Amino acid sequence: MSEIKQLGHFINGQAVAGTSGNTGVVNNPATGQQTGSVALASVGEIDDAVAAAKEAFETWGKSSISNRTKLMFKLRNLVEENADALAAAVSSEHGKVHSDAFGEVARGLDNIEYACNIGELMRGGHSNQVATGIDVTTVRRPLGVVAGITPFNFPAMVPLWMIPNAIATGNCFILKPSEKDPSVALMMAELIAEAGFPPGVFQVVNGDKVAVDAILEHRDISAVSFVGSTPIARYIHQTATTNGKRVQALGGAKNHMLVLPDADIGLAADAAVSAAYGSAGERCMAISVAVAVGDVADPLIEAIADRTSKLKIGAGDDPDAEMGALITREHRDRVAGYVGGAAEAGATLVLDGRETEFDTDGFFLGCSLIDNVTPDMDVYKDEVFGPVLAVVRVDTYDEALELLNNNPFGNGTAIFTRDGGAARQFCEDAPVGMVGVNVPIPVPVGYHSFGGWKDSLFGDTHMYGPEGIRFYTKAQAITTRWPDPASSSVDLGFPRND
Ligand code: NAD
Repeated sequence: MSEIKQLGHFINGQAVAGTSGNTGVVNNPATGQQTGSVALASVGEIDDAVAAAKEAFETWGKSSISNRTKLMFKLRNLVEENADALAAAVSSEHGKVHSDAFGEVARGLDNIEYACNIGELMRGGHSNQVATGIDVTTVRRPLGVVAGITPFNFPAMVPLWMIPNAIATGNCFILKPSEKDPSVALMMAELIAEAGFPPGVFQVVNGDKVAVDAILEHRDISAVSFVGSTPIARYIHQTATTNGKRVQALGGAKNHMLVLPDADIGLAADAAVSAAYGSAGERCMAISVAVAVGDVADPLIEAIADRTSKLKIGAGDDPDAEMGALITREHRDRVAGYVGGAAEAGATLVLDGRETEFDTDGFFLGCSLIDNVTPDMDVYKDEVFGPVLAVVRVDTYDEALELLNNNPFGNGTAIFTRDGGAARQFCEDAPVGMVGVNVPIPVPVGYHSFGGWKDSLFGDTHMYGPEGIRFYTKAQAITTRWPDPASSSVDLGFPRND
């Protein structure tokens, strides 16, 4: 058996071993073997990280924009140079194939590039002579110590939704990554240190609920960004706001793709297969429900089934593999349970992923395509988070829209049609934060912002882009007067705009 990697924390500029005595298991999902043991932080270790961050903020929060910009550019180049190694680390602990992992690093890089422009992003406003001899300037200040808690499914990209904007604006950031695939966060900490960011500006504390709760309750942490499942997002939002923190907590999803009768079936089928089975369906923007409107269902299902049966499933480091393993054995079995449950509830298994055989102990599951799914079935109601595409047949656009309106989630959605008017109407109607028109995974680029509605996001701001800058800064309005000493007098009246 190969050696088990010991994964600790990165506190105050150094890699350190954990001291709590508690550890979590890290697997290679493609082999099913344990490859790492991750330290789970105690409350004391969170305290250490916060103390280091607080001290670092004293100088980092006041450092010049030109200094911060230079460091961001260095980090950008280091992440690009190390993209292959970061992607390999993602694949080995998450299970997604290398090309997909490389793609998530590239999308993370996009956020670093956005934050390189911090001078423009933090530029305030000025109004001259608002009253005689009086000017007003607004500036945005960093918050201080901020924290991020991230999920297993994008161990590189989701932390990079948060880190660049947080540290470029002058905050000190503590990351608590998923305990299932923590290596890439520790690699990023090394790169951030190598770029020249001072100790304490970026730290990684691995852990579970103990570490999370310590973050939520710590009085010296000003803001928390969270991405994960809806029940935990709701808990994070409630607990952290109760403790006086600014919070953005992104939750789960159930993304519907509407296919109208006039759609290009080939384009829609390519999109459905890519968005349903890419990353084995473990994406918050995965399409998990195809809503076939009118008579489009039969040709659409045939085209999806044809493409899906040709997909190559394999280990993340197999260059021919298009889809990898799931994160854990338990999760794989849970997803398989939904497929069986759908059949028992009366749906039609066009493709049953449980029948695909693999000659490995890895956490693999084939792709399932399920027809005649109805909204009362668990496979429709729950976030399955696996390679399972449910098809719901409806007669009209209005019925399709009703499904979206009744769904508690509102992360992403897509419409496939050749009718521009119908697509435009859908953008107006859809109760969803991110909408694609003939685009199945409409993840905004780094200079827009990412976020869902309803139970897919708790808090007021979306993540990264302009809303990310606003989240990590607070406004200050400065009113100045430089009177001519000859005209000075005592005036107890409230300042007037004259
Ligand atoms: P998760 O909610 O189980 O875990 C997310 C983080 O919360 C991890 O760091 C974990 O350690 C911590 N955590 C877990 N249970 C906790 C508890 N009881 N108390 C305190 N902290 C706890 O999510 P996951 O399984 O790692 O990731 C998959 C989920 O994330 C899916 O629901 C997916 O839709 C969602 N997700 C959403 C987005 C989005 O942008 N909306 C993006 C990626 C993933």
